[in-house]
Amino acid sequence: MNRSARPLLLKGGTVVDPARGLFAKADVLLRDGVVAAVERGLALTTAEVIDCRGLFVVPGLVDMHVHLREPGLEDKETIVSGTRAAARGGFTSIACKANTGQFVDNEAAVEYVRAIAELRGLVNVFPIAALTAGLASEGLAPLHELREAGAVALSDDGHPVRRAGLLLNALKYARDVGFLVISHAEDTALSGEGVFSAGPWSTAAGLEPIHAEAEEVGTARDILVAARADVPLHVDHVSTARSVESVRDAKRRDFDVSAEATPHHFCLDQSMLESPFDPNTKVNPPIRGAADRKAVIAGLRDGTLEIIASDHAPHTEAEKSQPYQHAPFGIVGLETTLGLTLTHLVEPGHLSFGEAVEKLSTNPARRLGLAGRGTLFPGSAADVTVVDRTRRWTVDPKSFASKGVNTPFSGWKLVGRAACTIVGGRLVMADGELVEG
Ligand SMILES: [Zn+2]
Repeated sequence: MNRSARPLLLKGGTVVDPARGLFAKADVLLRDGVVAAVERGLALTTAEVIDCRGLFVVPGLVDMHVHLREPGLEDKETIVSGTRAAARGGFTSIACKANTGQFVDNEAAVEYVRAIAELRGLVNVFPIAALTAGLASEGLAPLHELREAGAVALSDDGHPVRRAGLLLNALKYARDVGFLVISHAEDTALSGEGVFSAGPWSTAAGLEPIHAEAEEVGTARDILVAARADVPLHVDHVSTARSVESVRDAKRRDFDVSAEATPHHFCLDQSMLESPFDPNTKVNPPIRGAADRKAVIAGLRDGTLEIIASDHAPHTEAEKSQPYQHAPFGIVGLETTLGLTLTHLVEPGHLSFGEAVEKLSTNPARRLGLAGRGTLFPGSAADVTVVDRTRRWTVDPKSFASKGVNTPFSGWKLVGRAACTIVGGRLVMADGELVEG
């Protein structure tokens, strides 16, 4: 990424920086790749001025759950297309998972992702490497080498670690190397070949069901094993009431557990699906029932779920055009997460705007240990998202920068989106248009 030579002055906006407890009208000066000042009445004749009147200036959003697909599955998404999607969605930093075509379970793959992102990516990319070699749950990946290469966390996401004993050992090694471990909680003996949430729909359609217990047993197991190892754990895509309760209980016991919710789990339940067997709604964990969705929202409200992440999982149209049971799991989210959060959590009053910023920036940056990100404290990285909370727009997959158009939110009317995305002091997106070169 080229660093902007010219300072940027964001004038007249409302600055919301939860890390500092700041919610006030102020100007923000970005210079030499860092936040130089946050004050009222700033002026600098050499700066390029961005008029932020009526807009909210927040620390650059951080999505800690993204599937970029490269190296190996570039027909679904590349580092370039994925970072363009991130910029359009207001994300300045993304952490990408290891289940690419050629797994990110070795030094060379981590270095490859970082190098391509640095050279051609529009936003910051932080690779999450595999915990076990080949995500196969048989032996550990080379954790020291992965750390040296610059991975920020470890996860076999897409798969759970199948044996609890291996997970226990892996967690201890990860702690010694200084890695956060991220759990895709699922008992595959219970989920089996399931494709659809267990219930009347799966029975009526004759689809193999996914029982909620598959996630709930996995969540409970991973939390208990992490507590036994006395190691921090982050739980991906929490989607059922009992999984939320497991995380809440762990926090009450002072276990170092964090957890995230995705927009598709807090916006959708089965009763809301117009075409329940549209493969664009097929995701793992699956869209659940109304009580589970309410529990996820309650978890977001009371802080049990302190992070919102997209689980952006692009697939080709050909793959998603197959019959439901054969289509791959996953939906895209980088370009809709902010709008869905503002429209379906902030507008109805489940979260304040500041709490939404915390869950989309402050907390994921802190949990991943991304120093100098997730805040606008002077000296921090000049990563900023300017949010227009009143902008009305309709989700149109044809406008996506992502190669993936597999979204269940096509045609949804949302209020609020990113007006500008600024990475390292450089404007990369303005009013929905990417700024490249
Ligand atoms: Zn997962």
